Amino acid sequence: MLTTPLTKLLGIRIPAVQGGMQWVGVPKLVAAVSEAGGLGLLTALTQPSPEALRAAIRETRTLTSKPFGVNITLLPSINPPDYEGYARAAVEEGVRIFETAGNNPGALIKYFKSNGCIVLHKCTAIRHAKSTERLGVDVISIDGLECAGHPGEDDIGGLVLMARAAKELKVPFIASGGIADARGFAAALALGAAGVNMGTRFMCTVESPIHRNIKDKIVASTERDTVHIFRTLHNTARVYKNKVALEVVAIERRPGGAKFEDIKDLVSGARGRKVYELGDPDYGIWSAGIAVGLIDDIPTCKELLERLEKQVAEIIGGLTQVVGASGSCPVSN
Ligand code: NAD
Repeated sequence: MLTTPLTKLLGIRIPAVQGGMQWVGVPKLVAAVSEAGGLGLLTALTQPSPEALRAAIRETRTLTSKPFGVNITLLPSINPPDYEGYARAAVEEGVRIFETAGNNPGALIKYFKSNGCIVLHKCTAIRHAKSTERLGVDVISIDGLECAGHPGEDDIGGLVLMARAAKELKVPFIASGGIADARGFAAALALGAAGVNMGTRFMCTVESPIHRNIKDKIVASTERDTVHIFRTLHNTARVYKNKVALEVVAIERRPGGAKFEDIKDLVSGARGRKVYELGDPDYGIWSAGIAVGLIDDIPTCKELLERLEKQVAEIIGGLTQVVGASGSCPVSN
């Protein structure tokens, strides 16, 4: 048993959160993660409307009676979503756990807190973590440079970010970015995290809704197979290094730079979604963290979480024994 402040707060068995993932966080995956003892999160913006989110919440409840939550991410969008409408629909449906992420989350966090909800806020900088802590968030999900999607603009890796979080924050934090196996999971706990957030690892599970070709592509990839786009637009995103992503980077590097309009058609989420539907990894951009280099199988969520739970406990137990015996702590497995 890996009991931490996160497992106690959320009523889950293993301190692992399936982070919000556009087009991936749908009822089947969310329920599988929660059933397996972690926390599944429905991605609100994957649903076309607040009404559709209501239906997704109800569907998830038919699949699991365990706790699950809803992610709402506030970032630049081609069609700005009705964030308030999604938030209201989820609260009215009885959801009590939310993951917020992105820019200016204050109003959303206040709304959730005034409705008695637990809020995990994902951020990429200690200064942002401290300001959202003052807004009353319950858990900070601290996202290192390794992560898929939007890592912020500071380029601080998880090792330093987590140690800083442990020193600076009063609320529990979970480690996000670059975690896909027991070594990373145990390291996060050693750095003071109350748990981990995994995205790319859950994309590559049996219950994940993406095409089998993309799962196979993740298994075949190394840690060198992702790239940052939108760097010049200050909306950096780590995506899979495919033809479209490299074309976007080349346009951004042109003399004089690029405007969003120059790359809009290449990067649209609607096009990226087709990657997962068609199984063509070059059809559009798709999010992937450097944890792709750590993933070499497609387990069920239950197999994955049970394996992690066992191996993390072994690593922690091994460290305790070695430290007890010699005062040093090499990890040999
Ligand atoms: P979209 O089609 O609206 O945009 C595609 C990409 O372009 C996104 O990364 C977006 O941030 C970026 N973008 C849009 N307008 C921009 C602008 N004016 N300047 C710079 N960058 C811009 O995105 P989508 O795939 O339909 O997703 C909808 C929203 O959800 C976006 O805001 C996206 O960033 C966000 N998102 C959420 C998650 C999550 O885990 N919840 C993951 C990825 C993206």
